Amino acid sequence: MKKIAILGSTGSIGTQTLEVVRNNPELQVVALAAGKSVEQMEQQIREFHPLIAGMWSEEAAADLRRRVADLPVKVVTGMDGLLEIAVMPGAQVLVTAIVGMIGIRPTIAAIEAGKDIALANKETLVTAGHIIMPLAAKMGVKILPVDSEHSAIFQSLNGEPKGRIEKILLTASGGPFRGRTREQLVNIQVEDALKHPNWSMGHKITIDSATMVNKGLEVIEAKWLFGVDLDQIQVVVHPQSVIHSAVEFQDHAVIAQLGTPDMRLPIQYALFYPERKPLQSEALDLFKLHTMTFEEPDLGTFRGLALAYEAARRGGSMPTALNAANEKAVAMFLDRKIHFLDIPEIISECMAAHQWIDHPSLEDILETEQWTYRYIESRW
Ligand code: NDP
Repeated sequence: MKKIAILGSTGSIGTQTLEVVRNNPELQVVALAAGKSVEQMEQQIREFHPLIAGMWSEEAAADLRRRVADLPVKVVTGMDGLLEIAVMPGAQVLVTAIVGMIGIRPTIAAIEAGKDIALANKETLVTAGHIIMPLAAKMGVKILPVDSEHSAIFQSLNGEPKGRIEKILLTASGGPFRGRTREQLVNIQVEDALKHPNWSMGHKITIDSATMVNKGLEVIEAKWLFGVDLDQIQVVVHPQSVIHSAVEFQDHAVIAQLGTPDMRLPIQYALFYPERKPLQSEALDLFKLHTMTFEEPDLGTFRGLALAYEAARRGGSMPTALNAANEKAVAMFLDRKIHFLDIPEIISECMAAHQWIDHPSLEDILETEQWTYRYIESRW
């Protein structure tokens, strides 16, 4: 029996993780955490019987306590609650399906407590990869990618040493606005940006896919996960999203992982690694597919990707400035306070104004996040 804790259990990755648990009696949920979806959390507690459940706000936690008063579950709250879940003695794996930099501290705490991490929360690696990866190596814990592209790379590598990698081919669907010009993006509405062609995901990552900032975050995530140089990571736009990513080795063999878009596969692969389990899902039919196409990314139109490369090359605290600015700008766009094309503008301005730190500590990262939020609030 493998015991897992899930941060972000009510979201897109969280609910799909629970579906994997539902279909695999060898998995047991020992803790769940969410932001404010109390009703959904109550249902999850009644079905999966965790020992601990976390809600972000006191108000949501109080409501949840009332709802599950008949059950032996401890309800915790806020960052202390997330940290308690991250280190709880019963759990072997922490699934980080929470959205944003809020995941950094629980992820670090879980690694320090010797838990393996099934990592969906890419913002954590983007901002604190230089802390997390050496810490995981020191503690002998695994960081298992859940992001479909990184899982594909992980599966393609299959234990080959990183010295054998020529380059990583990180595929991108191109999002809903692939092929458009900047002028055609001026009047994009929230509803347009939330229509991803191939994947159904949470709102923040769906907007990140539309701006292509998501691919930039994934480049930085891949650099940390696989220990390669930025120049070894090539973004390839592949609109059909069938090749989830590939690795070119030094003998020029290219090994890829293909499949229909279904996040349960990478989630399940991370939870059972190195074992590969059956999955009830749609199989890939190459005859129905007919064609696969590939394009270079349009860095002029999708400035977010270019900015992410810039932040990645600068390193230090710059990816935090990029990520924090993006988190805030996406929230403002979803609230209809700014236009779609303002997102990269805000990121760019924050990166230009940011006081760069070479080797940021955890405190520096969290302070950079707060500074960036304050800067945006003072200007927009
Ligand atoms: P969702 O927005 O669908 O879900 C986010 C989850 O986090 C919800 O359960 C939410 O709870 C919870 N949450 C938010 N804030 C807090 C908080 N302060 N404390 C506790 N829980 C909180 O996001 P996704 O599932 O789409 O994405 C999660 C992460 O996985 C992101 O980092 C994303 O980039 C990454 N990812 C997602 C993919 C996907 O297919 N969705 C693919 C690859 C990576 P509540 O419901 O109560 O708000």
